[in-house]
Order: sequence, then C-alpha cells, then structure tokens
Amino acid sequence: MEDMEKRVAVIGGGYAGIAAAFALSESGIPVTLFESSKTLGGRARGLDCNGARIDNGQHILLGCYRETLALIEKTCKIPEPFFRMPLELAVDAFRLGAFPLPPPFDLLFGLLFSKGVSLAEKLRAIRFVAKARSLELQADISVETLLESHAQGSGITNFLWKPLCIAALNTPIETASARVFLAVLKDGLSGRGSDLLIPKVDLSSLFPTGAAEIIRENGGGILTSSPVRFVRKSSGGFEVSTDSTSRHFSHAILAVAPQHLARLARDLPEIKLPDFGYQPICTIYSQYPETTRLPRKMTGFSQGLAQWLFDRGSGLIAAVISAEGKHLALPHSELAAEVHEETRSVIPGLPPPLWQKVIVEKRATFSCTVDVERPEQKTTLPGLYLAGDYTAGKYPATLEAAVLSGLACANQIRLSP
Ligand SMILES: Cc1cc2nc3c(=O)[nH]c(=O)nc-3n(C[C@H](O)[C@H](O)[C@H](O)COP(=O)(O)OP(=O)(O)OC[C@H]3O[C@@H](n4cnc5c(N)ncnc54)[C@H](O)[C@@H]3O)c2cc1C
Repeated sequence: MEDMEKRVAVIGGGYAGIAAAFALSESGIPVTLFESSKTLGGRARGLDCNGARIDNGQHILLGCYRETLALIEKTCKIPEPFFRMPLELAVDAFRLGAFPLPPPFDLLFGLLFSKGVSLAEKLRAIRFVAKARSLELQADISVETLLESHAQGSGITNFLWKPLCIAALNTPIETASARVFLAVLKDGLSGRGSDLLIPKVDLSSLFPTGAAEIIRENGGGILTSSPVRFVRKSSGGFEVSTDSTSRHFSHAILAVAPQHLARLARDLPEIKLPDFGYQPICTIYSQYPETTRLPRKMTGFSQGLAQWLFDRGSGLIAAVISAEGKHLALPHSELAAEVHEETRSVIPGLPPPLWQKVIVEKRATFSCTVDVERPEQKTTLPGLYLAGDYTAGKYPATLEAAVLSGLACANQIRLSP
C-alpha cells in the first residue's frame, strides 16, 4: 500500500542512490531518482569501448557484501552473474588458497600451507588472524602499526597485508585505518565472507539497470540525464530543481559522491561537508586475441605498476592500480605499454594488444585514514539524508558501504512518522 504522505527524491544514481530508491519503492513509498549521467551506476557503471563492454573501473566483490549480493539476487536478470571462488591469492611467488573447511579454519589452514613466505612468518600471521576475530582497538591506529604490533614480517606484509589493505581500503598501510581494516578482516573470516566474486557482466547490468526497471514497474520515476541544480527547503519538505523542472518532495536523499556534495547542498548550510582526502584508482584495459587467457582469473604483483590483473574473458585483461603512486605522473601511452610488459611476464609469447584503454579515476574513494570522520546518513535537517560510500559505517568506500548507506536512509524514512 502506498504511503501517501511521503514522496522522496533521491539525487544520484550510483549504488547508494539506487539501493535507497529500490528499498523505498519496495515499501510502497513514492520515489523519484535523478541522475545527471545518461547511465546509472555512478563510479560503478558499464561503458562501451571499441565494441567491448567494460566498466568505469574493474571491481571485485567479496562474499561478505551481504546486502549488495541480496539486492543483485533480487534485481539482476542475468543468472549467475559472478565468477565466485574461494579466496585464492597469487602475488608474485606467494600463493594462498582457502581450504575447504569451515571458517576460520579455511583461511588458517590456507595460511599454513601458503607458499612464498617462511614458516615463522606463516605462524605469526595465523596467530594474528586468529586474534583479529575478537580484536577491539581502544583507539584507531594505522594498519602498519597494527601489523608491526603483531610482529608481521616483511614477506607476509608485502604479499598479503599490503595488497589486501590497498584492495579493500584503497589507502596505503602507512595511513590506513586499522579499525576499518579489522572490520573487513573480521567479516571476511566469517561464513563465506572471503569468497571472491568477479562480475561476468558490466556493473550497470549487475544491479542498477534491473533495479531501475523494478522501481519503474512499482510506479517510481528514474530520470537519467537530469542533473539536479538546487535542493532547497520548502514548506513541509524540499524543492528539487533541474534545468527543466522544479518539484516538491517530503524527503530528500543526497546520494552524490562527497566531492559533489558542496555544489548540490550550497543552499543547505545545515549540511556539514566532509573534509576528506581522496585516493585514485587506475584501470588499464588491454584487448588481446580472443583465445588469450591469464593463468588464473586474478593475479597479483607486489612490484611494478599493475597490482592486479583480471581475466575478463574473450582476451580482455584489466589491470588495476589502486591508491596514489608514481604511475600517476606517466602519460597514458607509457602506462599502457608498461602494463602490457608486466602482463607478458605471466603470459609468455603474448602478442601486442589490439587496443588499450586507460581510465583514471582521480577521486575514486575517500582516503580511509586513521580516525577519518564520516557523516551520519541522518542530517540535522528533518527529512534530509545523505547516502554514499563515504557516510558513517564500518566498511571502507566500497559497493557494500554505498548500498548499506542507501538502505539505512530508506529504512529511516520508512520508520519516520
Ligand atoms: C575505479 C574504481 C574501482 C573500484 N573498485 C571497487 C571494488 O573492486 N570493490 C568495491 O566494492 N568498490 C570499488 N570501488 C568503489 C565503489 O565503486 C564505490 O564505493 C561506489 O560505487 C560508490 O557509490 P555511491 O553511490 O556512493 O557514489 P557514486 O557511484 O559516485 O554515485 C553518485 C552519483 O551521483 C550522480 N550525481 C552527482 N551529482 C549529481 C547531481 N547534481 N544531480 C544528479 N546526479 C548527480 C553521479 O553522476 C553518480 O552517478 C571502486 C571505485 C572506482 C572508482
């Protein structure tokens, strides 16, 4: 049944905004979503390139992304949209594979039988992982300090902890928040939380497109190519204006990236803007002949430029370089050529790529540093909410953080009088 009193505007069609709009429309609350781009998905969106379907950046999901996976299950038209595999890490000569045992023994045994680090390092890593499950920090510290205080050696740090920290928090261990790192580690150690899920379809088709279709079927509005210019207080709610319309809503959810919030909320002085640093992520797509395969779906490097290579199938390989680094100073052509050379080191005899595409997201995520302050979803203005991967929550800037924030906004609106 429709809640006639509430009409909600969601501004921003990334994973956070779509999750909020989907949950509201499922509860029968009228919702209109405004997205400035013609494609839904925000930082996690598909795009066409030289006849291939790629993403704005290569993404990986974890088994512990419970809410995101549940929404994908409800909305994605494609059956089995992931390659799902138990944790398997290959970084240089280091090899770690989860054992077919109940957690946490899958990982503890995986560590014990890992290859590429000394037995002493393995035993200290096992002790740390076992402790991490119940570890509560009184005060936040850097991941580097956390690892040092648990006597993690340079081998396991370089091959396991550094790549995991960069992959999950997109922030170097020297400055990354140990509290957030531990939250991810704990969830990864429960259930099938450490499973790796690599999408088989582009990120718009994975969730936003199917969810938007259901929202429309439920009577909601999805307005793409509709940048919102103003959100202002009006009697009993908010006025939301695009270039062509101005509409009134009882509630508004601002679901834009943090760097776009200042502009959108300039008439809402009550909104305290977050004071973040940002970290980049760079994805280099290389198309090789169709039969080209990586030895495994995901291969890591601890040296060089590329941190991970992903096999997208049909000869398309995505190289990911997360966080800041010297690669940002290189011209795209040099970066692409260097990544091709690194790919050759794992695929001997690899011919030159048919094409390459470099995508640099300079502000891919906020820097998840020690004691980073994240705003709550509920603002001091009644009826106004913030959704996005940067808002308060235990996860770093990820799809799951975005989805959780959107669901939290929808839930608070649903429960509000
Ligand atoms: C290259 C890259 C790789 C990543 N890899 C991973 C990964 O492997 N795993 C993972 O979990 N996460 C990953 N992330 C992080 C993940 O993509 C983000 O956390 C998530 O997509 C953020 O969603 P969001 O909805 O909070 O924000 P956004 O996706 O930024 O959505 C905000 C939306 O608001 C729209 N907008 C802005 N201003 C307006 C306006 N005035 N009017 C209307 N619309 C507006 C924007 O167009 C955008 O669509 C990666 C991010 C990047 C960039």
